[in-house]
Amino acid sequence: MTSTQYDLIIVGGGMAGASLACALADTELRIAIIEAVPWRSDQQPSYDVRTISLSHGSRLIYESMDIWQQIDQRAICPIHSIHISDRGHPGLTHLDRKDAGVEALGYVIENRALGAALMNRLEKIEHVDIFSPATVSDVEIDTDLATLSCAAGEKEFITQGKLVVIADGGRSGLRDKLNFKTVVDDYQQTAIVCNVTPGKSHQHCAFERFTPAGPLAILPMNENRCWCVWAVDDEDVDEILSLSEKQFLERLQQQFGDRLGRFSRAGKRYAYPLARKRVDTTIRSRAVLVGNAAHTIHPVAAQGFNLGLRDVAWLAEVLAQAQARQQDVGTLGVLQGYEDIRATDTKRVTAFTHGMIKIFTSQFWPVVGSRSLGLLLTDLVPELKHALLRRTMGLTGRQSRLTRGLALKKSSESTEKAW
Ligand SMILES: Cc1cc2nc3c(=O)[nH]c(=O)nc-3n(C[C@H](O)[C@H](O)[C@H](O)COP(=O)(O)OP(=O)(O)OC[C@H]3O[C@@H](n4cnc5c(N)ncnc54)[C@H](O)[C@@H]3O)c2cc1C
Repeated sequence: MTSTQYDLIIVGGGMAGASLACALADTELRIAIIEAVPWRSDQQPSYDVRTISLSHGSRLIYESMDIWQQIDQRAICPIHSIHISDRGHPGLTHLDRKDAGVEALGYVIENRALGAALMNRLEKIEHVDIFSPATVSDVEIDTDLATLSCAAGEKEFITQGKLVVIADGGRSGLRDKLNFKTVVDDYQQTAIVCNVTPGKSHQHCAFERFTPAGPLAILPMNENRCWCVWAVDDEDVDEILSLSEKQFLERLQQQFGDRLGRFSRAGKRYAYPLARKRVDTTIRSRAVLVGNAAHTIHPVAAQGFNLGLRDVAWLAEVLAQAQARQQDVGTLGVLQGYEDIRATDTKRVTAFTHGMIKIFTSQFWPVVGSRSLGLLLTDLVPELKHALLRRTMGLTGRQSRLTRGLALKKSSESTEKAW
Protein backbone atom coordinates (compact mmCIF):
# COMPACT_ATOMS: atom_id res chain seq x y z
CA MET A 1 0.00 0.00 0.00
CA THR A 2 1.29 3.44 -0.89
CA SER A 3 0.00 6.90 -0.12
CA THR A 4 0.61 10.06 -2.13
CA GLN A 5 -0.70 13.49 -1.45
CA TYR A 6 -2.41 15.54 -4.17
CA ASP A 7 -4.28 18.81 -4.26
CA LEU A 8 -7.08 17.18 -6.22
CA ILE A 9 -8.15 13.58 -6.72
CA ILE A 10 -10.65 13.23 -9.54
CA VAL A 11 -12.62 10.01 -9.34
CA GLY A 12 -13.86 9.18 -12.84
CA GLY A 13 -11.92 10.01 -16.00
CA GLY A 14 -15.09 10.24 -18.12
CA MET A 15 -15.95 13.39 -20.02
CA ALA A 16 -16.46 15.55 -16.92
CA GLY A 17 -13.43 14.31 -14.93
CA ALA A 18 -11.02 14.35 -17.90
CA SER A 19 -12.23 17.81 -18.97
CA LEU A 20 -11.65 19.21 -15.48
CA ALA A 21 -8.05 17.95 -15.37
CA CYS A 22 -7.43 19.44 -18.85
CA ALA A 23 -8.99 22.76 -17.81
CA LEU A 24 -6.49 22.91 -14.92
CA ALA A 25 -3.48 22.18 -17.16
CA ASP A 26 -1.99 25.67 -16.72
CA THR A 27 -2.23 25.66 -12.92
CA GLU A 28 0.22 24.09 -10.53
CA LEU A 29 -2.37 21.90 -8.82
CA ARG A 30 -1.14 18.32 -8.35
CA ILE A 31 -3.90 16.11 -9.71
CA ALA A 32 -4.66 12.37 -9.68
CA ILE A 33 -7.32 10.82 -11.93
CA ILE A 34 -8.68 7.44 -10.95
CA GLU A 35 -10.61 5.75 -13.76
CA ALA A 36 -12.19 2.31 -13.63
CA VAL A 37 -12.19 1.54 -17.38
CA PRO A 38 -8.79 0.85 -19.03
CA TRP A 39 -7.36 4.03 -20.57
CA ARG A 40 -8.06 4.38 -24.31
CA SER A 41 -10.16 1.22 -24.48
CA ASP A 42 -12.20 1.34 -27.67
CA GLN A 43 -14.72 -1.36 -28.35
CA GLN A 44 -16.83 0.43 -30.92
CA PRO A 45 -17.18 -1.00 -34.43
CA SER A 46 -16.80 1.53 -37.25
CA TYR A 47 -20.42 2.24 -38.26
CA ASP A 48 -21.64 2.22 -34.67
CA VAL A 49 -20.20 5.50 -33.62
CA ARG A 50 -21.65 6.93 -30.41
CA THR A 51 -21.99 10.68 -30.44
CA ILE A 52 -22.81 13.63 -28.23
CA SER A 53 -24.34 16.95 -29.16
CA LEU A 54 -22.41 19.92 -27.79
CA SER A 55 -23.73 23.48 -27.71
CA HIS A 56 -22.03 26.57 -29.13
CA GLY A 57 -21.17 27.50 -25.50
CA SER A 58 -19.42 24.15 -24.95
CA ARG A 59 -17.37 24.74 -28.09
CA LEU A 60 -16.25 28.10 -26.62
CA ILE A 61 -15.12 26.36 -23.41
CA TYR A 62 -13.18 23.67 -25.29
CA GLU A 63 -11.66 26.31 -27.58
CA SER A 64 -10.31 28.22 -24.59
CA MET A 65 -8.82 24.96 -23.30
CA ASP A 66 -7.26 24.33 -26.76
CA ILE A 67 -9.12 21.01 -26.88
CA TRP A 68 -11.57 21.89 -29.67
CA GLN A 69 -8.64 22.55 -32.04
CA GLN A 70 -7.25 19.06 -31.29
CA ILE A 71 -10.45 17.10 -32.06
CA ASP A 72 -10.34 15.28 -35.40
CA GLN A 73 -12.51 17.70 -37.43
CA ARG A 74 -13.86 14.80 -39.52
CA ALA A 75 -15.69 13.64 -36.38
CA ILE A 76 -17.55 16.94 -35.91
CA CYS A 77 -20.81 17.76 -37.70
CA PRO A 78 -22.21 21.29 -37.23
CA ILE A 79 -25.92 21.82 -36.49
CA HIS A 80 -27.23 24.71 -38.61
CA SER A 81 -30.87 24.47 -37.61
CA ILE A 82 -33.19 22.71 -35.18
CA HIS A 83 -36.71 21.61 -36.00
CA ILE A 84 -39.06 20.87 -33.08
CA SER A 85 -42.44 19.23 -33.73
CA ASP A 86 -45.22 17.27 -32.03
CA ARG A 87 -46.43 14.25 -34.02
CA GLY A 88 -50.13 14.38 -34.87
CA HIS A 89 -50.54 17.95 -33.63
CA PRO A 90 -50.13 21.35 -35.29
CA GLY A 91 -47.40 23.81 -34.34
CA LEU A 92 -43.64 23.61 -34.81
CA THR A 93 -40.59 25.67 -33.98
CA HIS A 94 -37.63 26.19 -36.28
CA LEU A 95 -34.37 27.59 -34.90
CA ASP A 96 -31.68 28.70 -37.32
CA ARG A 97 -28.04 29.71 -36.89
CA LYS A 98 -28.88 32.93 -38.78
CA ASP A 99 -31.28 33.94 -35.96
CA ALA A 100 -28.37 33.61 -33.53
CA GLY A 101 -25.61 35.00 -35.77
CA VAL A 102 -23.30 32.04 -35.16
CA GLU A 103 -21.53 29.54 -37.39
CA ALA A 104 -23.51 26.67 -35.81
CA LEU A 105 -26.04 26.29 -32.97
CA GLY A 106 -24.20 23.19 -31.80
CA TYR A 107 -22.17 20.22 -32.98
CA VAL A 108 -22.65 16.48 -33.08
CA ILE A 109 -19.31 14.92 -32.14
CA GLU A 110 -18.15 11.33 -32.07
CA ASN A 111 -17.45 10.49 -28.42
CA ARG A 112 -14.22 8.71 -29.20
CA ALA A 113 -12.78 11.74 -31.06
CA LEU A 114 -13.53 14.00 -28.09
CA GLY A 115 -12.14 11.33 -25.75
CA ALA A 116 -8.93 11.04 -27.80
CA ALA A 117 -8.34 14.82 -27.70
CA LEU A 118 -8.81 14.87 -23.91
CA MET A 119 -6.56 11.85 -23.32
CA ASN A 120 -3.81 13.15 -25.62
CA ARG A 121 -3.75 16.36 -23.60
CA LEU A 122 -3.85 14.64 -20.20
CA GLU A 123 -0.92 12.41 -20.99
CA LYS A 124 1.21 15.53 -21.59
CA ILE A 125 0.40 17.34 -18.33
CA GLU A 126 3.24 16.70 -15.91
CA HIS A 127 1.28 17.49 -12.74
CA VAL A 128 -1.48 14.96 -13.58
CA ASP A 129 -1.10 11.28 -12.62
CA ILE A 130 -3.49 8.79 -14.22
CA PHE A 131 -4.45 5.58 -12.43
CA SER A 132 -6.33 3.35 -14.86
CA PRO A 133 -7.81 0.81 -14.67
CA ALA A 134 -8.31 1.49 -10.97
CA THR A 135 -11.38 1.89 -8.79
CA VAL A 136 -12.11 3.71 -5.58
CA SER A 137 -13.76 1.47 -3.02
CA ASP A 138 -13.89 3.81 -0.04
CA VAL A 139 -13.39 7.40 0.97
CA GLU A 140 -12.76 8.99 4.35
CA ILE A 141 -12.90 12.70 5.00
CA ASP A 142 -10.85 14.29 7.81
CA THR A 143 -10.34 17.92 8.70
CA ASP A 144 -7.32 18.36 6.41
CA LEU A 145 -7.48 15.51 3.89
CA ALA A 146 -9.62 13.12 1.89
CA THR A 147 -8.25 9.57 1.97
CA LEU A 148 -9.26 7.16 -0.80
CA SER A 149 -8.88 3.39 -0.77
CA CYS A 150 -8.25 2.22 -4.31
CA ALA A 151 -7.67 -1.04 -6.16
CA ALA A 152 -5.83 -1.65 -9.42
CA GLY A 153 -6.29 -5.34 -10.20
CA GLU A 154 -4.76 -7.27 -7.30
CA LYS A 155 -2.93 -4.21 -6.03
CA GLU A 156 -4.52 -2.03 -3.36
CA PHE A 157 -3.33 1.49 -2.64
CA ILE A 158 -4.30 4.55 -0.68
CA THR A 159 -4.17 8.04 -2.05
CA GLN A 160 -4.78 11.33 -0.26
CA GLY A 161 -5.72 14.79 -1.43
CA LYS A 162 -7.03 18.12 -0.21
CA LEU A 163 -10.12 17.71 -2.35
CA VAL A 164 -11.87 14.75 -3.94
CA VAL A 165 -13.81 15.59 -7.10
CA ILE A 166 -16.56 13.04 -7.57
CA ALA A 167 -17.02 12.62 -11.33
CA ASP A 168 -17.99 8.95 -11.35
CA GLY A 169 -21.26 9.42 -13.27
CA GLY A 170 -24.99 9.14 -12.61
CA ARG A 171 -24.70 5.92 -10.61
CA SER A 172 -22.01 7.46 -8.44
CA GLY A 173 -20.92 5.11 -5.66
CA LEU A 174 -18.92 7.81 -3.85
CA ARG A 175 -21.87 10.21 -3.80
CA ASP A 176 -23.79 7.60 -1.83
CA LYS A 177 -20.81 6.71 0.39
CA LEU A 178 -20.50 10.36 1.42
CA ASN A 179 -24.26 10.54 2.10
CA PHE A 180 -25.17 13.18 -0.45
CA LYS A 181 -28.96 13.10 -0.36
CA THR A 182 -30.16 12.13 -3.86
CA VAL A 183 -33.71 12.41 -5.18
CA VAL A 184 -34.45 10.06 -8.08
CA ASP A 185 -37.38 10.43 -10.51
CA ASP A 186 -37.58 7.34 -12.69
CA TYR A 187 -38.98 8.32 -16.11
CA GLN A 188 -39.85 4.66 -16.81
CA GLN A 189 -38.38 5.34 -20.22
CA THR A 190 -35.24 3.99 -21.89
CA ALA A 191 -33.27 5.75 -24.60
CA ILE A 192 -32.54 3.59 -27.63
CA VAL A 193 -29.65 5.04 -29.58
CA CYS A 194 -28.12 4.09 -32.94
CA ASN A 195 -26.82 5.45 -36.25
CA VAL A 196 -29.27 5.54 -39.17
CA THR A 197 -28.91 6.55 -42.81
CA PRO A 198 -31.63 8.86 -44.17
CA GLY A 199 -32.80 8.85 -47.81
CA LYS A 200 -32.32 12.63 -48.22
CA SER A 201 -29.56 14.99 -47.16
CA HIS A 202 -30.01 16.06 -43.52
CA GLN A 203 -28.77 19.57 -44.43
CA HIS A 204 -27.25 19.87 -40.95
CA CYS A 205 -30.69 20.05 -39.36
CA ALA A 206 -31.34 18.44 -35.93
CA PHE A 207 -34.90 17.15 -35.45
CA GLU A 208 -36.59 16.89 -32.05
CA ARG A 209 -39.91 15.17 -32.53
CA PHE A 210 -42.32 14.43 -29.70
CA THR A 211 -44.30 11.30 -30.48
CA PRO A 212 -46.87 9.25 -28.52
CA ALA A 213 -44.15 6.55 -28.37
CA GLY A 214 -41.69 9.00 -26.72
CA PRO A 215 -39.41 11.91 -27.69
CA LEU A 216 -37.26 11.20 -30.73
CA ALA A 217 -34.14 13.12 -31.78
CA ILE A 218 -32.54 12.64 -35.21
CA LEU A 219 -29.23 14.49 -35.26
CA PRO A 220 -26.95 15.15 -38.25
CA MET A 221 -23.63 13.31 -38.57
CA ASN A 222 -20.96 13.34 -41.25
CA GLU A 223 -21.24 11.09 -44.34
CA ASN A 224 -24.99 11.86 -44.25
CA ARG A 225 -25.61 9.52 -41.34
CA CYS A 226 -27.87 10.54 -38.45
CA TRP A 227 -27.73 9.80 -34.74
CA CYS A 228 -31.05 8.58 -33.40
CA VAL A 229 -31.95 9.02 -29.71
CA TRP A 230 -35.41 7.62 -29.07
CA ALA A 231 -36.83 7.55 -25.54
CA VAL A 232 -39.42 4.76 -25.37
CA ASP A 233 -41.50 3.36 -22.50
CA ASP A 234 -39.60 0.73 -20.50
CA GLU A 235 -42.22 -1.90 -21.32
CA ASP A 236 -41.52 -1.53 -25.08
CA VAL A 237 -37.72 -1.71 -24.92
CA ASP A 238 -37.17 -5.46 -25.25
CA GLU A 239 -39.52 -5.68 -28.20
CA ILE A 240 -37.88 -2.73 -30.01
CA LEU A 241 -34.39 -4.09 -29.39
CA SER A 242 -35.40 -7.49 -30.74
CA LEU A 243 -36.77 -6.09 -34.04
CA SER A 244 -34.79 -6.85 -37.18
CA GLU A 245 -33.03 -3.85 -38.77
CA LYS A 246 -35.81 -3.58 -41.40
CA GLN A 247 -38.60 -3.74 -38.80
CA PHE A 248 -36.84 -1.20 -36.60
CA LEU A 249 -36.43 1.24 -39.48
CA GLU A 250 -40.12 0.87 -40.34
CA ARG A 251 -41.10 1.60 -36.73
CA LEU A 252 -38.82 4.61 -36.65
CA GLN A 253 -40.18 5.86 -39.96
CA GLN A 254 -43.77 5.62 -38.65
CA GLN A 255 -42.88 7.91 -35.74
CA PHE A 256 -40.57 10.30 -37.56
CA GLY A 257 -42.35 10.63 -40.91
CA ASP A 258 -40.78 11.27 -44.32
CA ARG A 259 -38.95 14.58 -43.83
CA LEU A 260 -35.61 12.87 -44.41
CA GLY A 261 -36.87 10.35 -46.98
CA ARG A 262 -36.72 6.61 -46.22
CA PHE A 263 -34.24 5.41 -43.58
CA SER A 264 -32.14 2.65 -45.16
CA ARG A 265 -29.66 1.41 -42.57
CA ALA A 266 -29.43 1.18 -38.77
CA GLY A 267 -26.34 0.45 -36.69
CA LYS A 268 -26.21 -1.49 -33.44
CA ARG A 269 -28.84 -0.32 -30.93
CA TYR A 270 -27.81 0.56 -27.37
CA ALA A 271 -30.23 1.12 -24.47
CA TYR A 272 -29.92 3.57 -21.55
CA PRO A 273 -32.58 3.62 -18.76
CA LEU A 274 -33.58 7.21 -17.99
CA ALA A 275 -34.01 8.93 -14.63
CA ARG A 276 -33.59 12.39 -13.22
CA LYS A 277 -31.22 12.56 -10.24
CA ARG A 278 -30.83 15.65 -8.10
CA VAL A 279 -28.84 16.35 -4.95
CA ASP A 280 -29.63 18.91 -2.25
CA THR A 281 -26.00 20.08 -2.26
CA THR A 282 -22.99 19.33 -4.46
CA ILE A 283 -20.36 20.07 -1.81
CA ARG A 284 -19.01 18.78 1.50
CA SER A 285 -15.81 19.79 3.19
CA ARG A 286 -13.09 18.25 0.92
CA ALA A 287 -15.57 16.82 -1.63
CA VAL A 288 -17.45 18.16 -4.64
CA LEU A 289 -19.74 16.51 -7.22
CA VAL A 290 -19.53 17.40 -10.93
CA GLY A 291 -21.13 16.17 -14.15
CA ASN A 292 -23.70 13.40 -13.97
CA ALA A 293 -22.78 12.64 -10.35
CA ALA A 294 -24.18 16.09 -9.51
CA HIS A 295 -27.20 16.00 -11.84
CA THR A 296 -28.56 13.40 -14.20
CA ILE A 297 -31.25 14.59 -16.59
CA HIS A 298 -33.36 13.31 -19.49
CA PRO A 299 -31.45 13.47 -22.81
CA VAL A 300 -34.29 15.45 -24.45
CA ALA A 301 -32.76 18.72 -25.73
CA ALA A 302 -29.23 17.25 -25.30
CA GLN A 303 -28.36 19.33 -22.24
CA GLY A 304 -26.71 16.83 -19.83
CA PHE A 305 -23.02 17.08 -20.59
CA ASN A 306 -23.28 20.70 -21.71
CA LEU A 307 -24.43 21.43 -18.15
CA GLY A 308 -21.61 19.23 -16.79
CA LEU A 309 -19.01 21.08 -18.86
CA ARG A 310 -20.20 24.39 -17.40
CA ASP A 311 -19.66 22.83 -13.92
CA VAL A 312 -16.15 21.98 -15.04
CA ALA A 313 -15.40 25.46 -16.39
CA TRP A 314 -16.55 27.16 -13.17
CA LEU A 315 -14.92 24.65 -10.81
CA ALA A 316 -11.61 25.07 -12.65
CA GLU A 317 -11.93 28.85 -12.34
CA VAL A 318 -12.71 28.76 -8.61
CA LEU A 319 -9.90 26.28 -7.85
CA ALA A 320 -7.32 28.17 -9.93
CA GLN A 321 -8.25 31.38 -8.14
CA ALA A 322 -8.05 29.68 -4.72
CA GLN A 323 -4.60 28.37 -5.52
CA ALA A 324 -3.44 31.77 -6.74
CA ARG A 325 -4.54 33.17 -3.39
CA GLN A 326 -2.75 30.31 -1.62
CA GLN A 327 -6.02 29.06 -0.17
CA ASP A 328 -6.66 25.40 0.67
CA VAL A 329 -8.76 24.21 -2.32
CA GLY A 330 -10.75 21.69 -0.25
CA THR A 331 -12.32 24.05 2.27
CA LEU A 332 -16.03 24.68 2.40
CA GLY A 333 -15.42 28.40 1.97
CA VAL A 334 -13.83 27.86 -1.47
CA LEU A 335 -16.35 25.21 -2.53
CA GLN A 336 -19.33 27.31 -1.43
CA GLY A 337 -18.27 29.94 -3.97
CA TYR A 338 -18.51 27.27 -6.66
CA GLU A 339 -21.89 25.93 -5.52
CA ASP A 340 -23.42 29.42 -5.34
CA ILE A 341 -22.45 30.05 -8.96
CA ARG A 342 -23.74 26.73 -10.31
CA ALA A 343 -27.04 26.36 -8.42
CA THR A 344 -29.25 28.50 -10.70
CA ASP A 345 -28.07 27.02 -14.01
CA THR A 346 -28.45 23.46 -12.69
CA LYS A 347 -31.95 24.09 -11.33
CA ARG A 348 -33.12 25.81 -14.53
CA VAL A 349 -31.81 23.15 -16.93
CA THR A 350 -33.07 20.31 -14.74
CA ALA A 351 -36.53 21.88 -14.49
CA PHE A 352 -36.59 22.76 -18.22
CA THR A 353 -35.88 19.20 -19.43
CA HIS A 354 -38.21 17.65 -16.82
CA GLY A 355 -40.97 20.11 -17.78
CA MET A 356 -40.59 19.25 -21.48
CA ILE A 357 -41.04 15.55 -20.76
CA LYS A 358 -44.11 16.14 -18.58
CA ILE A 359 -45.74 18.49 -21.10
CA PHE A 360 -45.00 16.46 -24.22
CA THR A 361 -46.04 13.09 -22.77
CA SER A 362 -49.38 14.39 -21.50
CA GLN A 363 -52.54 13.41 -23.40
CA PHE A 364 -54.69 15.80 -21.31
CA TRP A 365 -56.29 17.96 -24.05
CA PRO A 366 -55.66 21.40 -22.44
CA VAL A 367 -51.96 20.51 -22.16
CA VAL A 368 -51.91 19.18 -25.75
CA GLY A 369 -53.50 22.42 -26.97
CA SER A 370 -51.13 24.60 -24.97
CA ARG A 371 -48.02 22.84 -26.25
CA SER A 372 -49.12 23.29 -29.90
CA LEU A 373 -49.68 26.95 -29.16
CA GLY A 374 -46.34 27.12 -27.32
CA LEU A 375 -44.45 25.70 -30.32
CA LEU A 376 -46.21 28.12 -32.65
CA LEU A 377 -45.62 31.15 -30.43
CA THR A 378 -41.96 30.27 -29.92
CA ASP A 379 -41.60 30.18 -33.69
CA LEU A 380 -43.34 33.52 -34.22
CA VAL A 381 -42.38 35.68 -31.23
CA PRO A 382 -38.74 36.82 -31.56
CA GLU A 383 -38.21 37.23 -27.77
CA LEU A 384 -39.36 33.64 -27.09
CA LYS A 385 -37.24 32.29 -29.94
CA HIS A 386 -34.22 34.23 -28.74
CA ALA A 387 -34.63 32.88 -25.18
CA LEU A 388 -34.82 29.30 -26.48
CA LEU A 389 -31.83 29.88 -28.76
CA ARG A 390 -29.69 31.13 -25.86
CA ARG A 391 -30.65 28.10 -23.74
CA THR A 392 -29.93 25.73 -26.66
CA MET A 393 -26.53 27.37 -27.18
CA GLY A 394 -25.68 27.16 -23.46
CA LEU A 395 -25.36 30.92 -23.09
CA THR A 396 -27.81 31.79 -20.31
CA GLY A 397 -26.76 33.23 -16.94
CA ARG A 398 -23.25 34.19 -15.85
CA GLN A 399 -20.46 33.05 -18.13
CA SER A 400 -17.22 31.48 -16.90
CA ARG A 401 -13.86 32.85 -18.04
CA LEU A 402 -13.41 29.83 -20.32
CA THR A 403 -16.76 30.51 -22.03
CA ARG A 404 -15.62 34.10 -22.55
CA GLY A 405 -12.38 32.97 -24.20
CA LEU A 406 -10.17 33.96 -21.25
CA ALA A 407 -7.47 31.93 -19.54
CA LEU A 408 -7.92 30.90 -15.90
CA LYS A 409 -6.30 33.36 -13.51
CA LYS A 410 -2.82 32.32 -12.47
CA SER A 411 -1.72 35.38 -10.52
CA SER A 412 -3.27 37.15 -7.56
CA GLU A 413 -5.39 39.45 -9.75
CA SER A 414 -8.97 39.46 -8.55
CA THR A 415 -11.79 37.60 -10.28
CA GLU A 416 -14.44 39.02 -7.97
CA LYS A 417 -16.27 40.47 -10.95
CA ALA A 418 -16.47 37.02 -12.58
CA TRP A 419 -18.99 35.84 -9.99
C1 LIG B 1 -28.97 8.41 -24.46
C2 LIG B 1 -28.21 9.60 -23.98
C3 LIG B 1 -27.88 10.61 -24.86
C4 LIG B 1 -27.21 11.75 -24.40
N1 LIG B 1 -26.92 12.75 -25.28
C5 LIG B 1 -26.34 13.88 -24.83
C6 LIG B 1 -26.07 14.95 -25.73
O1 LIG B 1 -26.31 14.87 -26.94
N2 LIG B 1 -25.50 16.09 -25.23
C7 LIG B 1 -25.19 16.21 -23.90
O2 LIG B 1 -24.70 17.26 -23.48
N3 LIG B 1 -25.41 15.19 -23.03
C8 LIG B 1 -25.97 14.04 -23.47
N4 LIG B 1 -26.18 13.01 -22.60
C9 LIG B 1 -25.67 13.11 -21.23
C10 LIG B 1 -24.18 12.75 -21.18
O3 LIG B 1 -23.97 11.48 -21.75
C11 LIG B 1 -23.69 12.76 -19.73
O4 LIG B 1 -24.01 14.01 -19.16
C12 LIG B 1 -22.17 12.56 -19.64
O5 LIG B 1 -21.80 11.33 -20.19
C13 LIG B 1 -21.75 12.60 -18.18
O6 LIG B 1 -20.34 12.52 -18.10
P1 LIG B 1 -19.65 12.21 -16.71
O7 LIG B 1 -18.18 12.27 -16.97
O8 LIG B 1 -20.24 13.07 -15.65
O9 LIG B 1 -20.12 10.72 -16.34
P2 LIG B 1 -19.76 9.36 -17.10
O10 LIG B 1 -19.71 9.56 -18.56
O11 LIG B 1 -20.73 8.34 -16.56
O12 LIG B 1 -18.28 9.00 -16.60
C14 LIG B 1 -18.04 8.51 -15.30
C15 LIG B 1 -16.67 7.84 -15.29
O13 LIG B 1 -16.36 7.40 -13.95
C16 LIG B 1 -15.80 6.10 -13.98
N5 LIG B 1 -16.08 5.47 -12.66
C17 LIG B 1 -17.29 5.12 -12.14
N6 LIG B 1 -17.14 4.62 -10.89
C18 LIG B 1 -15.81 4.67 -10.60
C19 LIG B 1 -15.02 4.30 -9.46
N7 LIG B 1 -15.58 3.81 -8.33
N8 LIG B 1 -13.68 4.46 -9.50
C20 LIG B 1 -13.10 4.99 -10.61
N9 LIG B 1 -13.80 5.36 -11.72
C21 LIG B 1 -15.12 5.21 -11.72
C22 LIG B 1 -16.50 5.42 -15.15
O14 LIG B 1 -15.75 4.36 -15.67
C23 LIG B 1 -16.64 6.57 -16.16
O15 LIG B 1 -15.53 6.67 -17.02
C24 LIG B 1 -26.86 11.86 -23.03
C25 LIG B 1 -27.18 10.84 -22.14
C26 LIG B 1 -27.86 9.72 -22.60
C27 LIG B 1 -28.21 8.62 -21.63
